[in-house]
Amino acid sequence: MNVAIILAGGTGSRVASEIPKQFIELSGQMMIMHSLKPFAESKMVNAIQIVAGQEWREKIESELFEDPELASEFNGFSDPGENRQMSIYNALKDIDNTLESVDGVIIHDAARPFVTVEDIDACLKALKEHDGGMPVLPMKDTVYFSRNGKKVDELLNRNCIYAGQAPEAFRFREYLEANEDLLPDKILLIKGSTEPAIMAGLDVAMIPGNQLNFKVTTKEDLERAKEILEG
Ligand code: C5P
Repeated sequence: MNVAIILAGGTGSRVASEIPKQFIELSGQMMIMHSLKPFAESKMVNAIQIVAGQEWREKIESELFEDPELASEFNGFSDPGENRQMSIYNALKDIDNTLESVDGVIIHDAARPFVTVEDIDACLKALKEHDGGMPVLPMKDTVYFSRNGKKVDELLNRNCIYAGQAPEAFRFREYLEANEDLLPDKILLIKGSTEPAIMAGLDVAMIPGNQLNFKVTTKEDLERAKEILEG
């Protein structure tokens, strides 16, 4: 079976709102509900694990149980970690302790409400031939390498640079072990879900990403999300 991990354990708010961005209401529902639904709709996902703080669980459950498809796949909550990757690790451990015969995990940000069933299935299909599947977008702008943000140290070939998106899918056991290899300290330096897999030498296929599946990070992103959903 394949299990989705939905990350809603972040507390930072670069969108300048009083509550974490993933719980802001968009078109009558919390942002996380928009991100969750395509995972319940995908026939390739069998269970859903949500990372969220205690204070949000009751509200999430009340919206989640209104949707029978979501309710039937919900496996439980996991505790947020010190960084995003520790949140993922907590969910992986909980999945290992509560479910049997897990083949794949697919990891998504609650703050990406425009993911589609096609995006999800494309990632999971990559697991037939690879240890992982990661959607990427080519860079539109030219990118420069600078250590201090004031002077350019190195020129980079834009044709070889890609932006990683979520969701990312991995073979469960291999990915859990790749994370365990980084405990207790190295895991705190990880920024993207695919990094532990690459560090462990796993084979992760790059698949075409979806421009619309952007992460709500800034106030402008939030306005764009509202415009798309509310017209
Ligand atoms: O902060 P950032 O935009 O990178 O967060 C991406 C996603 O990871 C968000 O949905 C956020 O809630 C989640 N997250 C988490 N645990 C953390 C940090 C972030 O679940 N410790």
